[in-house]
Amino acid sequence: MNTIEWLSRLIAFDTTSRYSNLALIDDAAQWLQDQGLSPWLAYNGERTKANLFVTIPSASGSQEGGLILSGHTDVVPVDGQDWHSDPFVAEIREGKLYGRGAADMKGFIASVLAAVPQMKAARLKRPLHIALSYDEEIGCLGAPVMIAELQARGLTPEHCIVGEPTSMKMVVAHKGIHTFRCKVHGKAAHSSLTPQGVNAIEYAAKLIVFINELAHQLQSRHQNDPAYDVPFSTLSVNTIGGGTASNIVPQLCEFEFDYRNLPHMGTEEIVRPIEEHIKKVLEPQMQAVDPACSIEMVHGENVPAMPEAEAALLHDLVTQLVADHARLKVAYATEGGQFQQAGIHTVICGPGSISQAHKPDEFVELAQLARCDDFLGKLIAAQSY
Ligand SMILES: [Zn+2]
Repeated sequence: MNTIEWLSRLIAFDTTSRYSNLALIDDAAQWLQDQGLSPWLAYNGERTKANLFVTIPSASGSQEGGLILSGHTDVVPVDGQDWHSDPFVAEIREGKLYGRGAADMKGFIASVLAAVPQMKAARLKRPLHIALSYDEEIGCLGAPVMIAELQARGLTPEHCIVGEPTSMKMVVAHKGIHTFRCKVHGKAAHSSLTPQGVNAIEYAAKLIVFINELAHQLQSRHQNDPAYDVPFSTLSVNTIGGGTASNIVPQLCEFEFDYRNLPHMGTEEIVRPIEEHIKKVLEPQMQAVDPACSIEMVHGENVPAMPEAEAALLHDLVTQLVADHARLKVAYATEGGQFQQAGIHTVICGPGSISQAHKPDEFVELAQLARCDDFLGKLIAAQSY
């Protein structure tokens, strides 16, 4: 099967993150077994989803070291989006292949699977590995399970290319994502008796203003990195809900914010001042009216940033294979930070554009798929005797 045939086949599996990805994984695993390879799966707790990992050993039969080609199998929902063709049936129009996941990121997976016969035929100096994960789109939940299993099996890959859509340019670093949910517990009252209540929405608003001021401070810090498209860490309040009626002082208000940190900035740098503001300023004011009032803050998604690695070999290799020699740093997050944390030097490089990801009529240009096929062909050659 060539890349376009593989991509059409992969798109036909509806692997929206809320569903199981096992039909796709089992299909790929069966095909890899038919090629004489031995894929293994690493499941989630409920065994409804799995990561797939397979090694194409070196010419000497070694499975040690080597390079991982990595992609996530899940896709974002199409709910409420206006598509001009069935999102789960690949359709080619004017040099573009349309379908959910075409860019993010079944195109890369298709190109990798189509190259397996080439990898097997090559006399590899070091093994190549293929890693397919689940639940990337809902907080990179699958990759850590696979990385733990890699370590349990004593596998020690040195390098990794995550094929997220970068228009086949090399991304060497990216930001992290941390989400937080705040629950402001006030005290309800008839709105004619405001002094007897604690207005949860108004206290949420005070905390949101504080978070926004912190965001402005992050923007003006000296240690920002101009290599990023957005060169500072960002904080943004993105959802809010609360209150029951226009004549009731609201008891509860909840909001969520996200923190997109540069690699050198930890979560402590924003969590500590927010917690201090809650404990020292807002809760004492609230509790002066009713000691039961409080503000909870819960950490949700936790996707580490990917700092630029000291990985001259990998950077040189990928630089030789791409047309554009820039070393980009980007604001979106991937599983690359998790591989990097596990000591596996990682870069991001894949077909299609991030600007087409997650949208209705998501597509990948056929020219991008051809460039990815070419990239993998040269990569296999560079890794062979
Ligand atoms: Zn993706």
